[in-house]
Parts: sequence; structure tokens; C-alpha cells
Amino acid sequence: MKFPSEPFKIKVVEPIRRTTREERDRLLRDAGYNVFQVPAESVYVDLLTDSGTSAMSDRQWAGMMMGDESYAGSRNYYHLEETVRSIFGYKHVIPTHQGRMAENLLFSTIVKPGMCVPNNIHFDTTRANVEHQHAEALDLVIKNAYDPHCDFPFKGNMDLNRLEETIHRVGRERIPLAMITITNNSGGGQPVSMENIRQTRALLNRYGIPLFFDACRFAENCFFIKEREPGYANTPMLTIARELFSYGDGCTMSAKKDGLVNIGGFLSLNDDRWAQQITNMLILVEGFPTYGGLAGRDLEAMAQGLREVLDEEYLRFRIGQVRYLGELLDQAGIPILKPIGGHAVYLNAREFLPHIPQSKFPGQALAVALYRDYGIRAVEIGTLMFGKQDPATGETLHPELEMVRLAIPRRVYTNMQVTYVAESIIDLYQKRELIHGLALTYEAPILRHFTARFTELQKSQPVTV
Ligand SMILES: *Cc1c(COP(=O)(O)O)cnc(C)c1O
Repeated sequence: MKFPSEPFKIKVVEPIRRTTREERDRLLRDAGYNVFQVPAESVYVDLLTDSGTSAMSDRQWAGMMMGDESYAGSRNYYHLEETVRSIFGYKHVIPTHQGRMAENLLFSTIVKPGMCVPNNIHFDTTRANVEHQHAEALDLVIKNAYDPHCDFPFKGNMDLNRLEETIHRVGRERIPLAMITITNNSGGGQPVSMENIRQTRALLNRYGIPLFFDACRFAENCFFIKEREPGYANTPMLTIARELFSYGDGCTMSAKKDGLVNIGGFLSLNDDRWAQQITNMLILVEGFPTYGGLAGRDLEAMAQGLREVLDEEYLRFRIGQVRYLGELLDQAGIPILKPIGGHAVYLNAREFLPHIPQSKFPGQALAVALYRDYGIRAVEIGTLMFGKQDPATGETLHPELEMVRLAIPRRVYTNMQVTYVAESIIDLYQKRELIHGLALTYEAPILRHFTARFTELQKSQPVTV
């Protein structure tokens, strides 16, 4: 079989509205050509993010009815604690309302000004939380992670030589911990191999540096290990996850991804002293340690989601659906980032729209065209998100990769809807020379992609393909 069909049937449906091209054209003008500003109800297939957009199972919904809303000692907390310990194996389980709060609590406790945190690639909130402590966030992924045509199976791997050089250069005492992001979201959802994790652990052990995982997509990473790494083909998912986490001292987690819930997260770790300090801070900013900013029912849904996400049938469907979309596009000659990652397909906007220079936002122009012509919402990951001013010359520095990410929500869209997305993009590719660049009319000083506004450049401007 080409790809696995859905391992579930649908019990509840939510209608989605079809809009006309004229309506979407008007909405885009009102939104300043920023798809973040378009109301979700006017989107047909929403691939903006896989975060917090999962469909919950009947068991998760049943669990929500079993919410114990006691202020202290809710039974749902004990279910979560038991589940997290059984998968991740760390001693302390600290619930938070989402992943960035787990990051904030961890870094505000152990990272001091002037320190460095190495990671394969920091996710944007992770980087922001490290930098908020006046510390440096270092991305040390292997070099071929930045080559969109290289199909190495573990492009999320840590570059061990650069990690060791970094330790020598900055000194062990300035590195309070190292992190590995599984899968590597900012690098295209690419997995990290068990061997690389084992070697990272061994290297860090020589210097006594703790290792934490950014575990948001841990189940997807474990599935890639099973599929691609020698020796794991017959290993159960839970065994792979346990081995992986055994090489770390703790993890931060956004359960909005592989927790299969719409809100929730946690921090889990072994160190008693850090856990105590973090718990004190948790009480100040989130709530009592057995609910951490969530309702009891949310804790129960998260515990159940964590058990479901390691189901191999589910993961085969999940990874298979993303791959199916990527392969349909690849076979039609659409430029995409390879290999196809765990949670998203990335269009290579520079190759898709070679007639639009990076200064005219080809990624954003592609996202705008996808919405206007087909009602599909995707997100630009390129000049708009990562373009920076050169402090010396004032010129804009463009990022190496100009991408449009099609993130697939978990268990939400059918394979037929995914086929619609592929056919739409193939159709758009045929008439790509009709797409025009954009010019910024407003940008906020930080995280400008959420609120930026544009005008469309005139159609009369010369266009060549
Ligand atoms: C989403 C995400 C986070 C932050 O989690 P939130 O729940 O959005 O706060 C951190 N790291 C990675 C890799 C993520 O994908």
C-alpha cells in the first residue's frame, strides 16, 4: 500500500465553510496580506501550525468529564505523573500551561547572564527564553541540515565536533545544560538518531554537562528511529522512547504537539534541587504544583494523549500522511525540502518563485497566493520571519532558506483533503509567473511576522521566469 489509511473513524464533525476567491481577495486586502490576520472561519484547510490543533479521541473527551478540579492533589495530576514517568522516566513532573512556560521556568532557574546553551536548533520561543536570561542560544546542528536537497535520514543531529569546540571555547562552567530538539522543528521537523543522542550524552558526560530534550515531537522522532535506524525495526515505540530519554536529565514539553491536546505542557527532570526551585517559581507564576496553570480535565486529556501518541498504527498514519503530501508534490516537480519531515512539508519558495527576489518576500507571496486561490493557509518561514537588519549597514540580511511550511494538524484532515492541498499547489505551480512580490508597509520591532502588513507590487512590473 502506498500510504496507510486513517486508523480511526469520525464520531464528531465540524463544518468548514467554502469561500469565494473574491471574498478571500477582500479578506487578504483587509489583512494587509498577512494570513495571521485572516479569520480562521474563512480558511478551508488550515495548515498554519500543528500546535494545539489536534483532534482529541473519544477517550480524551471522556477523560475531560472525569476532571477532578480540586485545588491540590487532583487525581488527574497523579495520572499525568504516572504516565510521564512511564514514558520519560524522570523523577519530577511539573505541569505548565504550555511549552514556553516550561522553558521559562527551567532557564530562569539555571541559566545566568553570560552563559551559553547549545542545542541542535533552538525553536523560536526556546531561543527567546534563553536570550531573556541574557545568555546565548547556540545552534549546533550538522551542516547538511541547511541543504534543502540533502536527504540524510537524521538531519536533526547535533554536530559533535562543533559541540566539543564550543565547550572548549566558552568553558564548561558557562554551559549549565545542553539541549536536543526532537524532532528539530526549526530545521524542517527532521529527526535525531539514537546514536547521535548516545554520543552527545557521552561527550557531555566527559564535562559533566546535563542534557535536556525539547520533547514536543518525541513520538514522531521515535517513529523515524524505528523506521530508519539499524537495530530498531522490531523495537516497540515505548521501549525506543524510554531508551532515548534515559540519555537525558530532563525535558521540556509542549503537549500541544505530541501530547495530542489543545493546551498543556510540562517540565520533567531528575535534579531535586532544581525541581524545588522551579516548583517555587511555578507557584508564583502558574499555580499549585498539581495543576500548574491547567484545569484537572486538561491534565487528564494530556495523560491520555501521551499514551495514544506512541501507538504505532497512529504514528504510521501520521508520518505517512505528511509523507503522502510531500511525495505528491515531489512527483509533480514542486520544489520541497527533503527528506520530508515529521509534522510538515516545506515548500522551497525561492525555487518555486525564482522571479521574485528575497527582498520582495517570495515566501509570503506564495502563502498569500495559496490562500487567495484555494483557501489554504500556510506559514512563511523566511525573510518575513527571520530577516534581520544588519546593525552596521542597515541593510536587510536574508535567511538562507525561504520556506512556506504546510504543517499538518494531527488526526484532523482526511487524506482526501490532503490530496486537495497537493492538487492546489500543483495547479498554482503551473501559473506561478502570475504571482507578484510584496512590499512591507508596517512591521513591529519584534516577532514582526504576526502583525506585519504589506501591499502587493504592481502586476505591470516586469516578470520573468
Ligand atoms: C511549540 C514548541 C515550543 C513551545 O511550546 P508552546 O506550547 O507553543 O509554548 C518549544 N519547542 C518546540 C520545538 C516547539 O515546537
